Amino acid sequence: AQAPVTVTVTGAAGQIGYALLFRVASGQLLGPDTPVRLRLLEIPQAVQAAEGTAMELDDCAFPLLTGVDVTDDTRRAFDGVNVALLVGARPRTKGMERGDLLEANGGIFKPQGEAINAGAADDVRVLVVGNPANTNALIAQAHAPDVPAERFTAMTRLDHNRALSQLAAKSGASVADITKLTIWGNHSATQYPDIFHAEIAGKSAADLVGDRQWLADEFIPTVAKRGAAIIEARGASSAASAANAAIDHVHDWAHGTPDGDWTSAGVISDGSYGVPEGLISSFPVVSRGGRFEIVQGLELNDFSRERIDASVQELQEERDAVAALGLV
Ligand code: NDP
Repeated sequence: AQAPVTVTVTGAAGQIGYALLFRVASGQLLGPDTPVRLRLLEIPQAVQAAEGTAMELDDCAFPLLTGVDVTDDTRRAFDGVNVALLVGARPRTKGMERGDLLEANGGIFKPQGEAINAGAADDVRVLVVGNPANTNALIAQAHAPDVPAERFTAMTRLDHNRALSQLAAKSGASVADITKLTIWGNHSATQYPDIFHAEIAGKSAADLVGDRQWLADEFIPTVAKRGAAIIEARGASSAASAANAAIDHVHDWAHGTPDGDWTSAGVISDGSYGVPEGLISSFPVVSRGGRFEIVQGLELNDFSRERIDASVQELQEERDAVAALGLV
């Protein structure tokens, strides 16, 4: 039998953690042949709740789950980790300035980056879900100099899936018929969901939709503000869909993207499409041989260029702010 893969989930007692852990333990993250050992990291006041979740995980008697550890010790949580799902973060509270938010998250993601650097397995893959995800990923990456930078990623897959769903609803197509959609930039309100390279059953999605007004006034804001709409409707933020996107992201990273299609992920920029090197920005990516690669050679029209530049500008400002705090 295969050796168990160690999956560490931070913020394990939170809403997303609760929606995520059972799917990881059931084999949906890494496939039906891969046993999983779970490490649940929480802050001290939430450890007891995480222990409750661990009891429920035991009670599922998942055949693939070889063990669950709960800890508030960051070093222990990441010792030997193969897949790190960094979900716990400091949410923005009323009256909080962006600088304060970035500083509070620096206090979380810096030690986590250091612990990953010190103890992770050679093949470690890191997905940051906790917001501001791109910049939190950058902070962790900056403190893990011995881990290849490409192993640090930020989640824009939920935005990608939301865009697929909106485009399917508009066009009457099935999500399964839509390929080559892209989320560019930051996982924030400035993100740019791009349908200009997307295809619906092999035909240009932009031509089929044909409605620039819908694109600018409905599609883009609906995708970007979907999180707020869910809070409004549900009285709580999206959790199951965020967990589902995390599963999709890591699953595709490990197992590959289908031929003729790509997905979206926040990955470290190599300068592609004019995105400054070293920023963690969302791009169209394929996954091959266990690695994400940025899809090259796409032509960007002025409409796209302007929006990508605006989102990347925001990422640069976030990087400047955390640099000023000495966090990168
Ligand atoms: P959630 O589980 O709902 O969310 C966790 C993080 O995911 C937040 O930063 C949230 O950002 C982010 N997120 C990213 N994408 C989405 C999305 N599409 N929808 C919703 N959230 C998204 O938060 P809870 O408050 O329920 O739980 C957080 C847990 O993390 C708590 O148990 C806390 O104790 C723990 N924690 C653990 C730490 C650690 O392990 N070291 C450190 C800090 C916290 P946003 O706030 O912007 O929605």
